[in-house]
Amino acid sequence: MADPVTILAENLGAIRQRIAGAAARSGRDATDVRLVAITKYISADILPALVQAGATDLGESRPQELWSKAAALDAPDVHWHLVGHLQRNKIRRTLPLVDLIHSVDSPRLLEAIEREAAAAHCRVRVLLEVNISQEPAKHGFPPDTLASLLPQLAAAPHVAIEGLMAMAHRQGGPETARRDFAALRQLRDRLQADAPQHVRLNELSMGMSGDFEEAIAEGATLVRIGTALYEGLTPSPR
Ligand SMILES: *Cc1c(COP(=O)(O)O)cnc(C)c1O
Repeated sequence: MADPVTILAENLGAIRQRIAGAAARSGRDATDVRLVAITKYISADILPALVQAGATDLGESRPQELWSKAAALDAPDVHWHLVGHLQRNKIRRTLPLVDLIHSVDSPRLLEAIEREAAAAHCRVRVLLEVNISQEPAKHGFPPDTLASLLPQLAAAPHVAIEGLMAMAHRQGGPETARRDFAALRQLRDRLQADAPQHVRLNELSMGMSGDFEEAIAEGATLVRIGTALYEGLTPSPR
């Protein structure tokens, strides 16, 4: 049995190669695509192996999981990303731990982050989550609301809106996923054209284990990968 570091390093290497291939096919530089290793399937005791295998950006979908994993992991060079829904009563404990919040999904949440960040004298980097597939069960701004909301959202001085995040249709297959990702990029381009000057929206967080190559073809700068990273690990993390 290979040890976890070896398995994780091999999986990371294979995923990085696929990232590089997808970037090359669309004339992009692979270094413009950051891999966020989603840790929700593994327990905190595997995290050191993941970091040793070369992961530098870690993402969690639940704030409490992020708190406990960030506290358990002694790796000062790792960047944490929150990729799931953030409840307002969890903002204060989350802010000092995260490099980027991918999942700001309402004006109320953004305003609450602004208040906490102002009180803590820090500036928080965020993405706006968009419900690009318009599925009712999903979080995220409806795509057609953002143009009118952006000036108000961008007026929060302690919040830097750096781009958009979305998930493709749950069961649409690669072509539907690619259409969803194209729609997110086009929305970003339209918003960028009219955005307040200090808002640049350079980041597109889109693509997961099943569809990250489609996402890169449409301009993803952050891919969030869980399942594909943990193949071959026993016991299976799921
Ligand atoms: C779980 C999760 C991922 C990773 O999904 P995989 O299909 O396991 O790669 C990405 N983004 C978010 C928001 C998630 O919750």
